[in-house]
Amino acid sequence: MELETIPVNRPRITESDIEAVTRVLKEGWISGDSPEVERFEEEFSSLHNCRFGVAVPNGTIALDLLFSVLEIGPGDEVILPSFAIISCLSQVLRLGATPVFVDSEPLTWNMDASQVRQHVTEKTKAILVVHTYGLPADMDPLIEVASEFGLMLIEDSAESHGLAYKGVTCGGFGLASTFSFYANKNVTTGEGGMICTRNEELFHRLRYFRNLTFDATNRFVHSELGWNYRFTGIQAALGRSQLKRLGEMVLYRRRISEIYQGFLEELPGVKFAPSITQYAENDYWVSGLTIDKSLYGSAQGLRSALGDVGVATRPFFYPLHRQPAYMKSPVYRERHLPVADWLYDQGLYLPNGLGLELTEVEEAARRTRKILIGWGT
Ligand SMILES: *Cc1c(COP(=O)(O)O)cnc(C)c1O
Repeated sequence: MELETIPVNRPRITESDIEAVTRVLKEGWISGDSPEVERFEEEFSSLHNCRFGVAVPNGTIALDLLFSVLEIGPGDEVILPSFAIISCLSQVLRLGATPVFVDSEPLTWNMDASQVRQHVTEKTKAILVVHTYGLPADMDPLIEVASEFGLMLIEDSAESHGLAYKGVTCGGFGLASTFSFYANKNVTTGEGGMICTRNEELFHRLRYFRNLTFDATNRFVHSELGWNYRFTGIQAALGRSQLKRLGEMVLYRRRISEIYQGFLEELPGVKFAPSITQYAENDYWVSGLTIDKSLYGSAQGLRSALGDVGVATRPFFYPLHRQPAYMKSPVYRERHLPVADWLYDQGLYLPNGLGLELTEVEEAARRTRKILIGWGT
């Protein structure tokens, strides 16, 4: 019997989202100059503890533009987690800077903040921290190291819209933070991204480089080279409408994860990241889990078995310190980061899109449980 496949992600688009987009389409304010863009920037950035927001076409460009404007360059070192998306690494390499990777904590999967200090050198310029899979990272030790050594602290908050560290919403702890509005993020505009900051000078530089370095006095004379990284009014209208439901969406992710944990948590060798730490609550932006190799083999094997019973999955991030594109680069350094390696080998995530019905999630959890029980005994 063919089982209907439950997708990893299905975005939730409501009638009010459609009305919001229709409204700007009717008004005709659709370009990057639409007042809707500034409204979205203000609303989103203030919610994330920042005075300023600069919306861009996606979360990768948010990182690219930020690193460029901060003039990260050859000889500079950037400390970042190995367990992260390629977007965190690509511009560091393109700019000729040297990435310095830090391993993850086995429990939270976030960058181990206690290992950061030992990697600081005279060349260190920035720390990029990622709030991984919906659990805010431990910020205090990073803020301390950054201020002690005068480093720029950047939060990649693409996976932590609306989440708090010690009661304070993530995004404003360092010099700047970046967000993505891809279709699986808590607030989506299809594609999209934003840089948030409290630094007014940085804000103006980001806007200037986003918009082709047009000059206020002599528009078509350019003393520096910029990009057209503008965001559209159509996307902004969708983003504003989505933002109104952010709190609700965070709760929905948690609800989904509770279902998976209910079905799977008591099985031996199956582990989820903690729902709560001393400093933050997990919203389980993805419903990720790790499986014990001796009981169940690799995550890849489980993914293929789940695929056969109609449960779509995704693997965990491939460690950045082993990316072929990095190994070819002149700044490559061999490193041994066992937790990042283990997460890739043994981790996967299950369907948890905001547009999924809870009954679909239950069905995915039931099918997963059945396979694991069969294998684990
Ligand atoms: C999604 C994501 C990005 C990239 O965002 P895009 O909009 O897909 O380019 C960057 N960092 C993290 C941590 C992400 O989850």
